[in-house]
This record gives sequence, C-alpha cells and structure tokens, in this order.
Amino acid sequence: MSNSTNEISEALKTVRTDITRLAEKYDRDPDTINLLAVSKTKPVEQIKAASASGQIAFGENYPDEGVEKIGVLGKESFEWHFIGAIQSRKAAGITQHFDWVHSVDRLKVASRLAMSRPANLPALQICLQVNIDNEPSKSGVAPEQILELAEQCAQFEQLNLRGVMAIPKPQTDFKLQRDAFRRVRELQESLKQQFPTVDTLSMGMSADLEAAIAEGATIVRVGTAIFGARATR
Ligand SMILES: *Cc1c(COP(=O)(O)O)cnc(C)c1O
Repeated sequence: MSNSTNEISEALKTVRTDITRLAEKYDRDPDTINLLAVSKTKPVEQIKAASASGQIAFGENYPDEGVEKIGVLGKESFEWHFIGAIQSRKAAGITQHFDWVHSVDRLKVASRLAMSRPANLPALQICLQVNIDNEPSKSGVAPEQILELAEQCAQFEQLNLRGVMAIPKPQTDFKLQRDAFRRVRELQESLKQQFPTVDTLSMGMSADLEAAIAEGATIVRVGTAIFGARATR
C-alpha cells in the first residue's frame, strides 16, 4: 500500500510511465493525457507527497473533505477537481473553491454552480457526467439528454463546458471496457460539433486505464494505483 512519501513518489512514476507506454501503444501523444490524482479519503500529507513529485491536479469526491483540504493546501501549486456526486445544497461550497467539476448532471446543479461562482475567479471548468450504461442507481445524465443539458450549461458565462466524464459499469473484459468508452467518446464528439470549448474526455481509473486511453481519454482519474487502497467509508 503506498503510504509513505517514497511509495507515493514511486507509484506516481509507475502510473506516468504506464500512461506514456499506453499512449505510444495506441498512437497517441502522451502530452494529451492528463493525470488526475484522486485523493479522496487520503490525508493532506499524502497529497503533499504527490505534490512534491510534481503532481498538480487532484480529484476529490466529498464537498466538506475537499474544501477542508483546499483550505490547508491552498490553490497556488494545485489544481482542484471535484469528481463526486453533487447535492444541490453543496454546489455553492464546491464552486467557491474548486477549479473543475466533472460531475455536472442536471440543470439545477449547473445553475447553482454558476450563480455562486465568485466574480473574482475565472469560469468554472465543467464536464457533464453521463450515465453511459443507464444504471438505475448511478449519477449522470442519460446519453439521450446530454445535448440538452449542454445547451443549458452553455448559457452560463460562469461555466466553461469542457467535455464529458463517465464511470462505466465495472467490467473485467477489455473489449467491453473499450466499448463503453467508445460510446462516451462518440457522445463527446457530437458535443464538440456544437460547442467549440469541448476538448476533454474524463474517463479511466486504476482498473480500466488502458481501455480509456485506447478510446481517447484526455484526463484519467487514478486513485488506488497512486495512494493505495482506500478504507471503506
Ligand atoms: C474514486 C474515484 C476514482 C479513482 O478510482 P481508483 O479505482 O481508486 O483509481 C476515479 N473517478 C471517480 C469519479 C472516483 O470516485
């Protein structure tokens, strides 16, 4: 389990090497694949260790925990991404502190993120989370409704629509993993036609990194492979 500064530094190196190797394997420029270090449930000491190894972008899932960590670590040397489910009453705190939100899935949340975005900050960078496998209990907009949500979000000048995020149904079969990510990419490509700011595909975690890179991920969100397993919450 990577806990010490050394272990985290080694794990980060391994993940970065993997990303470069996979980029080459699928004929992609490694510089177009950004690593988001998912630090949810992990203490600030471990985030500092990753930061000391050159990591800048960190992903958090829980509003209170994330805001507290941003308060301790600041924004100077960090880029903060919110990637968890959003209750609309928590949207204000999120938009006051984070740089990116990957998990916008309905108008009410988008509207609150926009209305509470502090005027002295640049537009919030957003991705629309799509429920790509239509799983009943999962967050995310339905694939057939993503265009409508994008149009609604594009009306808020406090939001900058960057792309699509998805967490497909867990699959061990590589071809099935790729199939889900391909469908996410096709949705992102259709959004891109209409919204020129769209350039981001946020997909792929520790267990399905290769399939996501094969299908064009531009942000991979990796927790376990960097920080070790998480205690169940
Ligand atoms: C926890 C989480 C991750 C990281 O998952 P790992 O399997 O630990 O790499 C990525 N994305 C989201 C949305 C998460 O909640």
